[in-house]
Amino acid sequence: MFQKNLATGLLLLASTALASCAVNPVTGRNELSLVSEAQERAIGAEQYGPSRQSQGGDFNVDEALTNYVNAVGQRIAAVSDRDLDYEFVVLNNSVPNAWALPGGKIAVNRGLLTELNSEAELAAVLGHEVVHAAARHGAQAITRGTVLQSALVVGAIAARDNDYADYIVGAGQLGAQLITQRYGREAEREADYYGIQYMVRAGYDPRAAVSLQETFVRLSEGRASGWLDGLFASHPPSKERVMNNQALVDELMPGLQGRDLETGEVRYRQALAFLQDNADAYDLFDEAHSAIADDDFDIALLNLDAAIDMLPAEPRFYGLKGDILLYQDKYSDAVDAYDDAIALDDNYFDYYLGRGVSYARLGQRTQARSDLERSTALLPTAVAMNELGKIALVNNERQAAKQYFLEAAQAQGQVAREATLSFTRIDLEDNPRAYLNAEMYADAEGRIYARVSNSSSLPVEAVTVEFAAVIGGRLGRQTRTVSTLGGNSAVTVSSGLRFADGQPWSADQMQASVVSARVRD
Ligand SMILES: [Zn+2]
Repeated sequence: MFQKNLATGLLLLASTALASCAVNPVTGRNELSLVSEAQERAIGAEQYGPSRQSQGGDFNVDEALTNYVNAVGQRIAAVSDRDLDYEFVVLNNSVPNAWALPGGKIAVNRGLLTELNSEAELAAVLGHEVVHAAARHGAQAITRGTVLQSALVVGAIAARDNDYADYIVGAGQLGAQLITQRYGREAEREADYYGIQYMVRAGYDPRAAVSLQETFVRLSEGRASGWLDGLFASHPPSKERVMNNQALVDELMPGLQGRDLETGEVRYRQALAFLQDNADAYDLFDEAHSAIADDDFDIALLNLDAAIDMLPAEPRFYGLKGDILLYQDKYSDAVDAYDDAIALDDNYFDYYLGRGVSYARLGQRTQARSDLERSTALLPTAVAMNELGKIALVNNERQAAKQYFLEAAQAQGQVAREATLSFTRIDLEDNPRAYLNAEMYADAEGRIYARVSNSSSLPVEAVTVEFAAVIGGRLGRQTRTVSTLGGNSAVTVSSGLRFADGQPWSADQMQASVVSARVRD
């Protein structure tokens, strides 16, 4: 259930592995690398699932679209400089974005596809991402440490703009970092440059790479800053990139005279027909997200019901409805909405997370646990871990509960703070000495005391302190109980033991320790 944190593993690897020099398969340059090709493939294979989940999940309503994008991607990959296990998926996300993980695992959001005008422009996007994978840009970022320097970079999930947004913990963090990082200008230039070469090798008109960049610049100028969270955060559009692409295309075009350069506009229009036909439904879905951000939940629900009327086959509409109903404490209705979503797509973490939390609130712990475990297998989140911890605690599985709370505590924000406190509540009772310290002293008359201090923020009760002291050559013992002790405070406890009159004594003749305590409710 708990996967080893890959980021931590890699960090260890980076500090112990011998750096090796390797020729970059795309640029032909010699470069330092701490990440082998086998590791690149392993990172891609491990992180592809959670990364897709965290970015909206796979777009399955129109499977033909994913097949089409994959086919165009494979056509580019086949002429790339590096043989990898390339995969291309469409994600159910309205933000225009695309990303590549090491090992050739690539994704493009439906929100980007609807901004493109031709198959050649799609080839320009995918060619750029193929270069990021082929030229080892992700592996270079790991080698430089720019990815792992912040070991706990956790991002709110883009698809969930609401108060109960959860955070990625454990396995999955590395992917989250890799797909949201900026590669740097040099890597972006390489991706543009070689991406255009790949387009030409695959038979596409390279001028589409220029029109694509022009579209990006135009869009970035006209859009609100929220848009910058997507493609433009990791791939900043600029007039410089347009000019660089134009210069390269001008250089290439004379040599391409007489070649049949494809743009594939008609094919692209056909492939996008489903998304274009249902654009209104997805607009309502986006409006529902905005309404949620403004706390207008009733408006959001109306938008979603209208979207469902237009496109009843889209599971995300029911899922977001479930999220709102859960937030409004309408747990049974939320379960119904998640049921509808899962009936259409049984492979998206958010539905299981939301339904699991709803079941937990309804007191149906068995169903809750099963759903929360499923959501965690798809994408480990602090919310799921925290809920699983609470269930384990009710079932009196203290060690399991501690593990869950520890995982949840890795994140940031309210859920992590709650989980940290829950962990401490259990651990304080398991290991009272780690939190409650007893320091011994004797007064001028030889009476023995202990200063008992509580370093946790939790108030405790029934604090049992055991005393032992060598008095007149014999061992004296006493047990004392402190009825209550506040968080971060201390109290003096008299042991009832006393050194004999005139007996010289030293600190090593007495001992005290806290053997048990309860956290006060
Ligand atoms: Zn890029």
